[in-house]
Amino acid sequence: MCKDFPKISTDLLEIFRKRLTTKIKNKEKLYQIFSLNFPELMGAMLYSNSISRKLNNNIISYSLNVFLPLTPYCRNNCRYCNFRKEYNEGVSAFLLPEQIKSILKKSETRHCTEALLTMGEKPEEKYSQVKKFLNELGGYETTIEYLLDICKLILENSNLLPHCNAGIVSYDELKELKEVNASLGLMLENISPRLMEHGEAHEFSPGKDPKLRIETIRNAGKLKVPFTTGILLGIGEKNEEIIDSILEIEKINEKYGNIQEIIIQGYSDSINKYNNKNKVYKTPSITKIIKTIIITRLITDISIQIPPNLFPTYEIFLLTGIDDWGGISPLTPDYINPGFPWPKISNLKTRTEELGYKLKQRLPIYPEFIFKKYFSDNLKDKIFNLIDENGYVK
Ligand code: SF4
Repeated sequence: MCKDFPKISTDLLEIFRKRLTTKIKNKEKLYQIFSLNFPELMGAMLYSNSISRKLNNNIISYSLNVFLPLTPYCRNNCRYCNFRKEYNEGVSAFLLPEQIKSILKKSETRHCTEALLTMGEKPEEKYSQVKKFLNELGGYETTIEYLLDICKLILENSNLLPHCNAGIVSYDELKELKEVNASLGLMLENISPRLMEHGEAHEFSPGKDPKLRIETIRNAGKLKVPFTTGILLGIGEKNEEIIDSILEIEKINEKYGNIQEIIIQGYSDSINKYNNKNKVYKTPSITKIIKTIIITRLITDISIQIPPNLFPTYEIFLLTGIDDWGGISPLTPDYINPGFPWPKISNLKTRTEELGYKLKQRLPIYPEFIFKKYFSDNLKDKIFNLIDENGYVK
């Protein structure tokens, strides 16, 4: 611990001292972080950052991706969503193989290594038209069946490694997805069933039942699937529910060791120009995000990711201890947060290095999970052709 850090209370200092040897699980102690003001908050940021830097050797990673929005249709209707669309006969239900091949072709010269596939969840359960479309497309019964074929197409036609965010999936579906994905993702968002109640963000989203999401993340753990999850701030959650959500993610990781990163994402008000029904949700303040990062670092050693395109002054999160910028695309927009362009990698590099850190491109599977062999044999050659001896992109 550094004697030059801003003065913090004995209690708080004790928490950070303890964290040097043990993760902090005591909810009351964690809750204190939410009430910190200047200058104690600054002290806590620096302690949190010093823990992260010891864990990750001053490396900040990112993944260069091609973003493929497979379908905007979804059985859920989360009140804050800017991705989902209501069914429209005039719009193809899915990206088609030829469209995907054409995007893959464009990615060849851009050094991308990840195909990020994002989609609404099980749209065939809500729209008979989608069910019919899938059937006519290739006799598919479900979106996941089509997705599996698209992942194979990507592996056969590019150097990219798929990473799918497919929503709630069964154990057997996860097993099949592991064969053709370097990693998979599902945001926990929040562990609170309260957010499913009348008037809350997930009232019309059966797939946002935290029990189902936890089951999917646990099943991925049983199958040793490197997994991305995270929390979403600004959707009506309470501070204690944020702590409970991060504690749950850490609990799963302690059991299965498969969580490679926790994304801390915030709902953004500015997106309202695209979807102005979303008036009840609030963009979390930078201070709230900082406090959430500190709490996450106290609870866990898992990498913490913040997408830099959502925050113009994103360096502040580096100073608090995040260690990953997530997926950034030189080719395709952020379809989840329309209107927020990705930073240029040269810019990200300068701004990361100005703070004394090294920026490294990683695959959608983190180095630790490559060396732990958490991938299917199918992907072995492709992965090892792309990495250096430390598991980062050559
Ligand atoms: S599950 Fe995802 S795509 Fe579907 S409505 Fe919710 S946030 Fe949007």
